[in-house]
Amino acid sequence: MPKEHRIILKHADAPGYSTDLECYERHGGYQTLRTALKRKAKKDAEGNALTPQAQVREEVKASGLRGRGGAGFPCGVKWSFIRHPNPKPVYLICNADESEPGTFKDRQIIYKDPHQLLEGMILACWANHVHLAYIYIRGEFTEGAKILNRALAEAREAGYLGKDMLGSGHDLDIWVHRGAGAYICGEETGLIESLEGKRAYPRIKPPYFPAALGLYMCPTIVNNVETLCNVRHILEMGVDAFKKIGTPKATGTRLVSLSGDVQRPGYYEIEAGKVTLGELIHHKNFGGGLRGGRQLQAIIPGGSSAKVFKAGEVFTIKEKDAGGNDVEKELGVLDIPYDFDTLMTCGSMSGSGAVIVMDDSRDIVECLANIAEFYAHESCGQCTPCREGALWMSKALHRMTHGEGRPEDADQLLHIAQNIQGRTICAFGEACAWPVLSFVGKFKKEFKAKAKGKKEAVTV
Ligand code: SF4
Repeated sequence: MPKEHRIILKHADAPGYSTDLECYERHGGYQTLRTALKRKAKKDAEGNALTPQAQVREEVKASGLRGRGGAGFPCGVKWSFIRHPNPKPVYLICNADESEPGTFKDRQIIYKDPHQLLEGMILACWANHVHLAYIYIRGEFTEGAKILNRALAEAREAGYLGKDMLGSGHDLDIWVHRGAGAYICGEETGLIESLEGKRAYPRIKPPYFPAALGLYMCPTIVNNVETLCNVRHILEMGVDAFKKIGTPKATGTRLVSLSGDVQRPGYYEIEAGKVTLGELIHHKNFGGGLRGGRQLQAIIPGGSSAKVFKAGEVFTIKEKDAGGNDVEKELGVLDIPYDFDTLMTCGSMSGSGAVIVMDDSRDIVECLANIAEFYAHESCGQCTPCREGALWMSKALHRMTHGEGRPEDADQLLHIAQNIQGRTICAFGEACAWPVLSFVGKFKKEFKAKAKGKKEAVTV
């Protein structure tokens, strides 16, 4: 029976569990950090000397942990881009902006178990020789910032931060920085610009890869809240045990934010790749089915920028058979396991882990108009295709939803979106183009009807 597999949220909702340091320590908190700081240098399989910090970096890499913020890039590989010793200071930034619509999971960690994030961050900082780190939190999360600042004060008082933390010889401090609430501050280089006190204009990559030219033009690691929490658990349970959770290419658990037309919207922690989209929507341990006996119309599997799936879609994927040969297999949309790679093979992504469910009462053109309006508002304006294109798409969709569609609108939407993707400084170009390409491409009938200025009949 599919069910939650709580590691990160193990204590979060337990009665009496609080955000206090005392409570976190009583549940085993900071023991992993204490143990890590006592490690001794050892030799690897090739006989090379490994410092305790290098051991932790290697273990995180070997765990296969992938970033939980959106792109799913392997965390240990990201860390390995930083040279040690480094002539410049190395910074670590925890991305707590959580700006992708539909996503509400990182804030659960911050609101309910902030010391778990701090322990993960301290371990990551120590392993990467970082002496100053920041938590960049979305401006609207006032309460989250307060909780984190309180937790940081407790951690400083207890010696987990500050000069010579826990007698390790390592100096570290962490500061909370509140953003002003813009989607683009969740993009790592936009975030860095904002942290430097400037407008959050994303930087051009290359050359501005954070690992080389990040905060104050120094090497910088940017990791998401959930990703950093996993560092503690990898070290605590060991690499082999961690790799047994999930699938070989998607290790560990995923926090999923489930929203839309399900009976039990909320956040769930699942084994990566072990629960299907259908189970997430229909099983009583998760969404509990659609509301009011409605039929499924569409699913956005990874936040509003992910390509939409239409109910009833079937995909052909390649799998290995028992003999190791490639075989083709048909997979219905509800049978897609929730992992990075299968969702990508099926043409979308797990992104920030936000699953948005739409039943057949929804006007699909209005759903896209809502998304497009968001992206038109949030474009930072640096690139012409994104700045102008996002607005054109939003305006056309607005017209269509108000009975003033033009016959050419549906095709023109596709044309604009095709000319945005791949032609912008940052991935926001794809974020605003992909919903349009997938919604218009998969719901042609509904869009053609609106393009004629005629309202598609919607049964509510
Ligand atoms: Fe700004 Fe959009 Fe260009 Fe990104 S793609 S830099 S958000 S204008």
